Amino acid sequence: MSAHEAAAPSAWLVVCQDAALTFGRGARAVVAVHGATLRIRAGDRLAIVGPSGSGKSSLLHLLAGLERPTAGTVSWPALTGPRTPGGIGLVFQGESLIPALDVVENTALPLILTGLPEEDARRSATAALALVSAADLAPRLPEEISGGQAQRVATARVLAQAPRLILADEPTGRLDHRTGAHVLDALIAAADITGAALVITTHDPAVAARLATRRVMHDGRLLAPETS
Ligand code: ADP
Ligand code: MG
Repeated sequence: MSAHEAAAPSAWLVVCQDAALTFGRGARAVVAVHGATLRIRAGDRLAIVGPSGSGKSSLLHLLAGLERPTAGTVSWPALTGPRTPGGIGLVFQGESLIPALDVVENTALPLILTGLPEEDARRSATAALALVSAADLAPRLPEEISGGQAQRVATARVLAQAPRLILADEPTGRLDHRTGAHVLDALIAAADITGAALVITTHDPAVAARLATRRVMHDGRLLAPETS
């Protein structure tokens, strides 16, 4: 048993045991995730690698508690649940900014919702935006920035919350190589500073190579860990 496997049960941020996710019923059912088993604890760096449609987003949504498994279990032993403040931060794939709020307000909003004074929330938001080289976007509305810039802002919004488990769904997917590397640097640095666990999905092996461990997803199946 490796040191990783020997961690006290209560140390796991998320435990996914034979968790499956099926969309729809009967003849139209799509099994997005077949019985996946996975455990994450503080400091872990995991890339889930697979082509489009392989079930990466579905698995991440299970880990985030955004979807309930249709079979098996997902639990968060070290957290009181997926919605714990400072618990899980999920960087969504695709649009997730609120159109009526500018970039700094979008970034600060989750902090304000947890009761942080607005001035402190804006300060943390500004620092997080700087981490992903998006400080200059602060006063703009979502409609005034590109998709790649919105992806960076969504990343900053999660970093500002200093979660113990950072889940990022293709955080570099819509970015050019250089900006993508920068966002990945920021995610890894933020996780290093706070001791958080970091799980990212990607279809890019070069991105996956930046993280300590990799698991491949294929047709909804999470393949066994690489043995080294
Ligand atoms: P990936 O993120 O690797 O591209 P997804 O998890 O988005 O893969 O999708 C896995 C499979 O589940 C695909 O066949 C997709 O069409 C299907 N799927 C995902 N979300 C839904 C949904 N809300 N309803 C029905 N099918 C879905
Ligand atoms: Mg996806």
